[in-house]
Amino acid sequence: MFNALVLTQEEKLTKANVCQISESDLPDGDVLVQVACSSLNYKDGLAVSGAGRIIRNFPMVPGIDFAGTVLESHDERYKAGDKVILTGWGVGENHWGGLAEKARVKADWLVPMPSDCDAAKAMQIGTAGLTAMLCVQALQQAGIKPSDGDVLVTGASGGVGSVAVTLLAQLGYRVVASSGRVEQNGALLATLGASEVIERSVLDVDARPLEKQRWAGVIDTVGNKVLATALAQMQYGGVAAICGLAGGFKLPTTVMPFILRGVNLLGIDSVSCPFDKRQQAWDEVLKLLPASYYQDACEAIGLTQVPEFAQRIIKGQITGRVLVQL
Ligand code: NAP
Repeated sequence: MFNALVLTQEEKLTKANVCQISESDLPDGDVLVQVACSSLNYKDGLAVSGAGRIIRNFPMVPGIDFAGTVLESHDERYKAGDKVILTGWGVGENHWGGLAEKARVKADWLVPMPSDCDAAKAMQIGTAGLTAMLCVQALQQAGIKPSDGDVLVTGASGGVGSVAVTLLAQLGYRVVASSGRVEQNGALLATLGASEVIERSVLDVDARPLEKQRWAGVIDTVGNKVLATALAQMQYGGVAAICGLAGGFKLPTTVMPFILRGVNLLGIDSVSCPFDKRQQAWDEVLKLLPASYYQDACEAIGLTQVPEFAQRIIKGQITGRVLVQL
């Protein structure tokens, strides 16, 4: 028997309890993993708190990512003792996930642990950090260079946002971080590499279709009016990589930035990202993220603290990344 966070539903209310389960309770899959670490992402917050309709079938073990060691494998790509990482693929949503001491998953969903990484480091990065790297790569591949001008990161204090600020700064971009918590997190964001920190409220307005040109690139984790304002402020030929909806899923914008300024909007998904692209993003994020990020912007919790931290992440009260140690 081993520990797992198990979500159940009673009268439409989600309950989260640490329970003892056995290997025979785990879903089908070709690889059994001893999970060393998982992490807390915004989607985990929605699932564990029940605030978002992430889980359709109960009981469910949440946790959209994990890192650990293979215990048993029926797939030739993995053998007992191999270190692996999993992010996405609906794990922790419709297949039991990483907030348990063991997980059984499809081999296709795993990525071998890069040589310069361990389970804790992998989950300090986690889904959020991988997604930040995919956003940065999307801007680079679209031709946005440091010399083109400022890059805006919204929701900058969060997991995706804080990693994005750090990666962009490491690559030499001038980063402007937007946050609803400037007083609390302004100093940290500057330490991570933001050249300027602006209040979210400046962007969270009803923007005109076109405003003064300001951003060569945008990485948006927030959506809604914040993104609409950022789009209206993009420079000619600017590119926005968007991945999140922490401020809502709507996008109240017009066609004007796209048809008059040649602005490009790139959607970023890490959940079903193909293996090669995923592996390359892991290699790159590990190369770029400085040791100071792990020290300054990460905290560690245990399984029993996850329900409390889930409430906090959906209220926008978490800064940086939360590692869950199993
Ligand atoms: P997170 O750590 O909670 O960060 C979200 C940040 O957004 C918060 O720290 C806060 O930053 C800001 N925020 C919170 N509530 C807000 C509100 N009501 N209005 C405007 N801003 C708000 O979450 P995360 O794990 O980094 O994820 C960020 C977003 O990306 C989520 O929507 C998540 O679902 C999405 N995501 C998508 C993918 C993908 O594959 N597409 C992968 C990972 C994450 P400030 O206090 O600094 O403003």
